[in-house]
Amino acid sequence: MQGKSRFSLYATEEAVLEKSDVMLSRLAEVAGGVQDLAEAYRRSYREQRQLVRMSDRMQSDLQNAVQRLAEQARELQELNEKLSEEIQHRAALEAELRRIAETDVLTGALSRRRFIELAQSEWARQKETGSAACLLMLDLDRFKRINDLHGHAAGDRALESFGAACRAELRSLDLMGRLGGEEFAIILPDTRVEAGREMAEKLRAAIAAISFRTDKGAVSLSVSIGAAQGEPGEALEDTMCRADRALYRAKSAGRDRVQIFTPELLEREVAA
Ligand code: GH3
Ligand code: MG
Ligand code: MG
Repeated sequence: MQGKSRFSLYATEEAVLEKSDVMLSRLAEVAGGVQDLAEAYRRSYREQRQLVRMSDRMQSDLQNAVQRLAEQARELQELNEKLSEEIQHRAALEAELRRIAETDVLTGALSRRRFIELAQSEWARQKETGSAACLLMLDLDRFKRINDLHGHAAGDRALESFGAACRAELRSLDLMGRLGGEEFAIILPDTRVEAGREMAEKLRAAIAAISFRTDKGAVSLSVSIGAAQGEPGEALEDTMCRADRALYRAKSAGRDRVQIFTPELLEREVAA
């Protein structure tokens, strides 16, 4: 009988066994895949846990660093405040030292150097603004006699009283300098010669009112003053020179007086 296949138990068993082999190998494949997946999942989970731990640590490190920075900023701020206090203190100290160095202890007048410096800038200002200052030259009369008769300490005391009396009369913007010994110069800014003469008279009277006693007797003072009006554009030295001539005239005319510089004064000098 052709075409009709015969049932064979053996063949069927073989086929089933073959199929089951295939299925088993597939199952093993699938199981292997599932294992790989589980392994990969476990690895990624471990890595994630590690990352989370790292990020926690980093966060706390960061917090600590921020705290430390804030503390350092506070310390820096405190240091800064102390430093600026120190700078202010030093600047005040320096200004005080400069003031002491620039001021004559006995009379409170500016030192010669500082006076000339300030006078130069006042003269420069005058040149720019066209304003005029009056310059006074003062020289104590017969001062050597005070030293000779009453001693050097009495001379010092007289100089002290002279300085105090002048400062009491002068405005805060006026400049007074000790040019040397018992010679002084005063600048009265923005002052015409008439007002300058009035101030010089006040000074002369205030000095003439000074008197005190030593064991050698009474000490009295007088001063001779020469005054000159600063001319527009004139050099300080030239104004000083003219005031000096007026002072010389005040001395030769008998002392204890104020003399204003006038051109006639020069003519008189030439004639003499
Ligand atoms: P004149 O009226 O002509 O100006 O006479 P005078 O005696 O004031 O002039 P002179 O220049 O001959 O003398 C000035 C004196 O001033 C001489 C000096 O010993 C004294 N003298 C200068 N500086 C000081 C000082 O700081 N203290 C004292 N005690 N005396 C001083
Ligand atoms: Mg003198
Ligand atoms: Mg003198």
